[in-house]
Amino acid sequence: MRTDHARPVRLADYRPSDWLIDKVDLDIALHPSATKVRARLSMRPNPAADGPAPLRLDGDELSLSSISIDGASLPSEAYAATPDNLTIAQPPHGAFQLELETTINPSANTQLMGLYRSNGTYCTQCEAEGFRRITYFLDRPDVMAVYTTRIEADRADVPVLLANGNLVETGTLPGEKHFAVWHDPHPKPAYLFALVGGNLGCVDDSFTTMSGRKVALKIYVERGKEDRCAYAMDSLKRSLRWDEEAFGREYDLDIFMIVAVSDFNMGAMENKGLNVFNDKYVLASSDTATDGDFASIEAIIAHEYFHNWTGNRITCRDWFQLCLKEGLTVFRDQEFTSDQRSRPVKRISDVRLLRGHQFVEDAGPLAHPVRPEIYHEINNFYTATVYEKGAEVVRMIKTLLGSDAFRKGMDLYFERHDGEAATIEQFVQCFADVSGKDFTQFMRWYSQAGTPEVTANGKYDAATKTYRLDLTQSLAPTPGQKIKEPMVIPLALGLVGRDGKDATLHAKGNTRIEHGVAILSSPSASIEFSGISEEPVLSINRAFSAPIRLVTNLSAADLQHLAAHDSDPFNRWQALQTFALRILIANVTALRAGKNTNSDNGLMDALAAILADKTLEPAFVAQALTPPSEADIAREIGSDVDPDAIFAARGHLRRKISECLGAELLALYERFAVREPYSPDSVSAGRRALKNVCLDLLAVNGQADGIARVFEQYKSADNMTDRLAGLATLSFHDKPLRGTAFEDFYQRYSSDPLIVDKWLMLQAAIPDPITLDRVVALTAHPAFAVTNPNRVRSLIGTFAQGNPTQFNRADGAGYEFVADYVLKLNGTNPQVAARLMTAFKSWRALESTRQAHAEKAIRRVAAGENLSADVKDIAERALAGG
Ligand SMILES: [Zn+2]
Repeated sequence: MRTDHARPVRLADYRPSDWLIDKVDLDIALHPSATKVRARLSMRPNPAADGPAPLRLDGDELSLSSISIDGASLPSEAYAATPDNLTIAQPPHGAFQLELETTINPSANTQLMGLYRSNGTYCTQCEAEGFRRITYFLDRPDVMAVYTTRIEADRADVPVLLANGNLVETGTLPGEKHFAVWHDPHPKPAYLFALVGGNLGCVDDSFTTMSGRKVALKIYVERGKEDRCAYAMDSLKRSLRWDEEAFGREYDLDIFMIVAVSDFNMGAMENKGLNVFNDKYVLASSDTATDGDFASIEAIIAHEYFHNWTGNRITCRDWFQLCLKEGLTVFRDQEFTSDQRSRPVKRISDVRLLRGHQFVEDAGPLAHPVRPEIYHEINNFYTATVYEKGAEVVRMIKTLLGSDAFRKGMDLYFERHDGEAATIEQFVQCFADVSGKDFTQFMRWYSQAGTPEVTANGKYDAATKTYRLDLTQSLAPTPGQKIKEPMVIPLALGLVGRDGKDATLHAKGNTRIEHGVAILSSPSASIEFSGISEEPVLSINRAFSAPIRLVTNLSAADLQHLAAHDSDPFNRWQALQTFALRILIANVTALRAGKNTNSDNGLMDALAAILADKTLEPAFVAQALTPPSEADIAREIGSDVDPDAIFAARGHLRRKISECLGAELLALYERFAVREPYSPDSVSAGRRALKNVCLDLLAVNGQADGIARVFEQYKSADNMTDRLAGLATLSFHDKPLRGTAFEDFYQRYSSDPLIVDKWLMLQAAIPDPITLDRVVALTAHPAFAVTNPNRVRSLIGTFAQGNPTQFNRADGAGYEFVADYVLKLNGTNPQVAARLMTAFKSWRALESTRQAHAEKAIRRVAAGENLSADVKDIAERALAGG
């Protein structure tokens, strides 16, 4: 396990590497327990560094077998090798070749970092710091080298040998062995190195780039699963084309490969030319994958491919710049999905994700800036803040500049920094240079943690026909940041008339308005709009132009008007969410005080209008019928949170919708329940989404006809989306049919681990007091394996992060169970353990009894023996401050 010296790491301490590595020649002889790695590194002093310096290479659990410089082996007094590093106190003054040999045990590598063996397949994961588990190296992203990788292995056991770049040589060797040599001409940091060896099936295709080059496309999967790769391949081809059209970016090798493996810590990894994927983001057919799975596959295939330019060709100078590649690439994959599917619906689901995860992270003890300034363990910064908020920051740059100037800035970035390890400053400077705008204050989006709150209060003066808008912004303290400075907040806005049309905006005041976007950069500002002939309704932060919490003085009638008429579809949805959130929060308070919940019909009228609007796409209507999540409601309440009251209030609202709109919901269900051949396209998926939301709402009261309808759909479904939707609804109802359906589902799919994951997830998410016992029992089920990250995430992860009432049981048993699992996983897979530990991120907002139980569990983890750097970091940050 990694020791903790030289930590924490601080952005302010960055300095260039004393040494550079121009070329890496690897010769790797694969063996299940004793893989030999010979590395020849072409070293030279860095001209940007201060002069002669010792050479200190990173390692992690390594043992050195031999070392030589320029062909002469090094006497033992000339170097010091420990598992964690290799130091040569007096290396040659100029360039030299360093040859190292290490032996590693891929079968014993349960951390799944570095080279490991999963179901007989050799596979690597090197981001962030896994390459140092293969050989000693300058394992930092600003050391970029050209790699040549020779792999040899048994021909029968390991017929497929893959690495980055282009294949240059293959051959057979004595003793039933063979080899392959791969060369990647593009300099890259070590975290993008990859190697795969196994007995894999392959699906082939090709793509002709915009300059007419033919690229071979290959997807490698477990044998027998080749027929589940068609959607992934199609997504890949669309991604290659889109990046040419939207950003002018062409692929740059002769071959592009994707490998799907079943034991993987992350979703996928963008290694140059050889992306490695968690198999759940590759494999799909109508019988095995839901519409949501298809959409994830499309988005993640695109995301990893887009990294070829934003991450690989231009990489990060250091890990503090992680959002440079991740935020930007998430933005790019979101744009891709918006172009392939419905832009408003994509925006709504991205904002739901942002609020449910990133806003929650921002509001608790794990809050950190998009670009952190200090870390103990970089693996813990692959967060919603770096990814999702990082994407929002890029989107704001586009909103501030407009599409054309944004594209010019991106072009300049690619031209200026290709082949470099860059920083956020360099990225933003490109937009400043093409636009002449000053981004100094805007940079606070990268440095200040927390979600800004904006108040927007409008008042109409009929006598002067003016509308006055008063804006304020504030940002609460976050860990390590007591004092905050004002941000630059782009607020897309309109004034919606009684006829639903936007008024023409003539503004005066101290706030700039450019193409319908007000730019709030001071703590408060006022804008006066003149020539407004009737009282309008303010529609602000359209399309969620800034990732803020918005407070307005809009009335229920105003919200109803926006829901029905706003020209911005996002704000039509938002008006309903705001409306629902006000009712939910009032009802949480009422329930806790033992009072009756209120039954506001304004929201029901607004929803009825949405259901009656035939111009709306079904996927949008499905979103409109889905109230804010429990996590979102909890975050809005902010303190003294009672998850049971939130659950009850949300259930009450859903029953109310079902009662008031039952006839309309039934009509919609029947309209879209028509059988047609399954297609995963977004229009068909949207129809199924709406149908299944209706199905769920129609059963919410637990009445026999509703439940029977659900079971009938479950039983007769001809695709996984409809079948799983049926099972998900049944899972929330304690009826005999629930047990029948769960049993049937397992019998049908027990041989397919990815589908069994869905079965585990649904059971872990049931909001019943008996769920914890069920989850404990399932950990002993043959389908569960604590060594497989997908199984752990499905069962334990869903219980901890997707079941607010049972994880937050008032007796603390949910916390104790999750703490036990964190400690259990700490020794075998610290990354997965630390990720599970983040379930405690909102503990300080809980009411006092739960808060005390949660604190006890966190303290128990923090005091655990042999705690990994990963888990220690999360536990200590969760406890700090407050
Ligand atoms: Zn990424």
